[in-house]
Amino acid sequence: MLIHGVEPAAAAGEASAAVLARRLRLVCWVVLAVMPLYALADSTWVGPAAGALITNELLQAAFLAAVLALSYRAPALCAPHRLALAVVAMLCLMAAVSGVIAGDALMPPLLLCGLALGAAIVFPWGVRAQLWTVAMAAVAVGAHVLWLPAPPSALPPSVVLGAVTGLAVSALIAWEMERSRAALARRDRELHEQLRRQDAWIEAVPVTLHRTVLYGDQAGRMWLSGNVERLTGFPAVRFAEPDGVAFWAQRVHPDDRGVFTAASADLAREHSARNEYRWQHADGLYRWLLSEAVLLIDDQGRPGEVIGSLLDLTERKQAEEELRESEHRHRLVTQVTNDAIWDWDLRSDAVFWNEAVQFLFGYAADQVGPDCTWWMDRVHPDDRPRIADGIEAVIRAGRDWRAGYRFLCRDGSYALVEDRARVVRDDLGRAVRIIGAMTDVTMRRQAEDKLRRSEVLFRSLIEKGSDLFGVINPDGTMRYVSPSHQHVLGYHPDELVGRAAVDFVHPDDLASMVARLGGVVGDAPIEFRFQHADGTWRTVESRIDDWSADPDIGGVVTNSRDVTDRKRAEVELQRAKDAAEAASRVKSEFVANMSHEIRTPMNAILGMTELALDTELSGEQREHLETVRAAGNWLLTLINDLLDFSKLEAGKVVLDLSEFRLAAMLQETLRMLAPRAREKGLALTCSIDPAVPDVVVGDPGRLRQVLVNLIGNAIKFAERGGVALNVGCPPPRNDGEVDLQVRVRDTGIGIAADQHAAIFDPFEQADSSASRKYGGTGLGLAIAKQLVGLMGGTIGVESEVGHGSTFSFNARLWRAGRGAQRTQGAALVTATPSSLAGRVLRVLLVEDNPVNQHLAMRLLQKHGHDVSVAGNGREALRTLAREVFDVVFMDVQMPEMDGLEATAAVRTLEAEGGMVQPHVPIIAMTAHALAGDRERCLAAGMDDYVSKPIRAEHLLAAMERVLAAGDGDVVMSGVA
Ligand code: ADP
Repeated sequence: MLIHGVEPAAAAGEASAAVLARRLRLVCWVVLAVMPLYALADSTWVGPAAGALITNELLQAAFLAAVLALSYRAPALCAPHRLALAVVAMLCLMAAVSGVIAGDALMPPLLLCGLALGAAIVFPWGVRAQLWTVAMAAVAVGAHVLWLPAPPSALPPSVVLGAVTGLAVSALIAWEMERSRAALARRDRELHEQLRRQDAWIEAVPVTLHRTVLYGDQAGRMWLSGNVERLTGFPAVRFAEPDGVAFWAQRVHPDDRGVFTAASADLAREHSARNEYRWQHADGLYRWLLSEAVLLIDDQGRPGEVIGSLLDLTERKQAEEELRESEHRHRLVTQVTNDAIWDWDLRSDAVFWNEAVQFLFGYAADQVGPDCTWWMDRVHPDDRPRIADGIEAVIRAGRDWRAGYRFLCRDGSYALVEDRARVVRDDLGRAVRIIGAMTDVTMRRQAEDKLRRSEVLFRSLIEKGSDLFGVINPDGTMRYVSPSHQHVLGYHPDELVGRAAVDFVHPDDLASMVARLGGVVGDAPIEFRFQHADGTWRTVESRIDDWSADPDIGGVVTNSRDVTDRKRAEVELQRAKDAAEAASRVKSEFVANMSHEIRTPMNAILGMTELALDTELSGEQREHLETVRAAGNWLLTLINDLLDFSKLEAGKVVLDLSEFRLAAMLQETLRMLAPRAREKGLALTCSIDPAVPDVVVGDPGRLRQVLVNLIGNAIKFAERGGVALNVGCPPPRNDGEVDLQVRVRDTGIGIAADQHAAIFDPFEQADSSASRKYGGTGLGLAIAKQLVGLMGGTIGVESEVGHGSTFSFNARLWRAGRGAQRTQGAALVTATPSSLAGRVLRVLLVEDNPVNQHLAMRLLQKHGHDVSVAGNGREALRTLAREVFDVVFMDVQMPEMDGLEATAAVRTLEAEGGMVQPHVPIIAMTAHALAGDRERCLAAGMDDYVSKPIRAEHLLAAMERVLAAGDGDVVMSGVA
């Protein structure tokens, strides 16, 4: 209510009471002032009535003073009717007293009536007070009449009429006064009611009104509607204080003070202002206010006051802020999502797309159409009707729409998309927009398809195959078994699922099976017996994978297979293998025997030819014999090749390592082959890298064998040009190892590329027609390859048909002079100087075959030795018991007592002292060129070994070795 600028008014009655009290006092003072004049004018001061008069005057004065004092001192007692009573009583008293004193019977009634009338006029206090007044006047008249010494006999009619008229008029006026007073009071109430309502309205509206007077004593105060308390937390009266305006300005947010003061300038210029600023509420927080004000110009044309309104904008500002944020968020979401988001305004048909539609489907920004047709045109024609119907239905009635369809990409392909949309409706339920998100699910679908296909594939593998798949729960019960169990083990899966797996396992296999299931280890399959539905036991091989940690499987996955038949086959195979091996052993024996049988006659042929050639012969005879010798030698080579090969195959060949001069060995080899080259008109050349050490440790015999084979082939397969041998090596290593690299190049017929590998296989020849022409067994390269392997190298060929061939191999040797080098399985013989030159040795030859006897004897005798012969082991024992020999050559296979037996006996006798010499060196002679022969001989107590056919150089070398050993300067390590 402050807005009106007045204090809230007290009740109207209170106001008039105060007026009445003031008037009463005025009347009392006037009467008091008049009384002395009135008394002075009176003629009765002298005479008998003077005393009464003075008394009367004094009484009146006292009464008036009392009323006055009461009205000043105790205004609460001065209720209007009390005052009226008091005044009327006083007047009546005065009139009565003066009438009595004057003895006037007429005046008092008139006067009293006049007084009553006057009181009614002067004090419009209502009918009740009026009645009291009249009643008092009547009492006064009565008292007067009683007190009169001589009451008048009759009242003159004029007096009665006057009294009655006075009363009536008085009553009428009083009534009229009362009416107008009541009307006034009602108007007053109505006005107040109206003001109250107005205030209530103002309270109710969210707007706070304000008014500021610009000058005068109210300047600086602000009158605000009561709802300002809601807005500011301060009551309106706070601002109505003299510093109200300053207080208001002080709580404006520091950042908004400029805006706030700018409003004053606007008001001065345009007489109106509108601004928004933050204002600090009593709770300390700021509120946004919208202030609108106008400047009112007063009658004199100067700015009188400012009135305006304040509106709390805080919530709107917050909402705006939230909206801004949510729009920002929304924008971000549409920017970062991988979905193509669309927003279709159904009223304008405009479609908004986010950027994703460009990168998902390959469109440029300007290729994306602005309306719905663009989209619909790109839906696959087959999907279009369905999609159009769906959209139409959801627009008609519905909210959410979801569909999958094919969507045309820029490059002409179709992407599989999944579209989800929501319809937005207005208050009347009309669809106004559809907002949707389109996801490209092509990849996902493809992956799903692939997964499904592979699932189908694996399922069919599992279900159709003969392998048994199963899943076993942690408690050992079977959770899944593949249908294959039906035909493999005779159980329908339902019969097994839920049963404990171990119930079907053979009791003997249980322990290992349970151990395995308990702590699944490794990949190795386990084997156990599983009972077939028909009661028989089937052997099952099972792989077990622990998937217990996988929550989807949570068990053990088994992949098993019935191996009963395989097991049986294995046993049979083993049996067959054993049989084959036995047969092979028999074959080896046979080969050994045959070689013996072949070598023996060969010995005879070659030996005898040799002897015959030593005799006088005609030219023709010599030629024939030489042919025999050549053929015999060839045959022997063949047999040796075959034997060599079978030994190599069996892994029974070991390298015989010794120190030798490499260059000399090479020269010797070439010299041996030179005649053949010369015969064919081929140049045979050799180059040796200076880096190759001269003296090396290796197996010269085997190295030569490989060289002879390669160079021999080169000569054999070349018709013109030449053969070049090239030997080199990288710098020797610190440990003395030499990697010898050998190349044999020829200008011969060459080898087709597809044969390069095959020719190293046994019995393989590149071209069988050529081989018929050139001869050969096809074993040479196979042997060379094995020997090179033994020497730690590899062999290979580069060749082209018609352009010659280059065979190359490498072999491991060692520099000499680093002490004896041993390699595994190899024996090393250090060189011994020839010690037999010029010595005549006594030799005992133990041999049953007369041809061999003859041959060996002749060969030894040719070298000047003294030879005795024994026909078998027993004979030899007898001879040895009598005579001393430097060396014994002992045939191994002999009738009666064979060489091994005889040697053992000799050694025993020697040990017992039954012999003439403590240890006679015995050298075995055997056609058993097979693996193990040498070992057997040495084990029987023999000192060395030569193989047949008998060759002079072999016999001599062996003698040299055993004698050197006897002299203590030969180190021979036996082969383990
Ligand atoms: P063979 O006893 O047949 O010579 P090899 O094992 O030594 O047996 O050779 C196998 C085959 O390799 C030969 O038959 C021949 O066809 C081919 N061959 C070997 N060396 C040569 C070469 N220098 N030039 C052409 N062909 C060769």
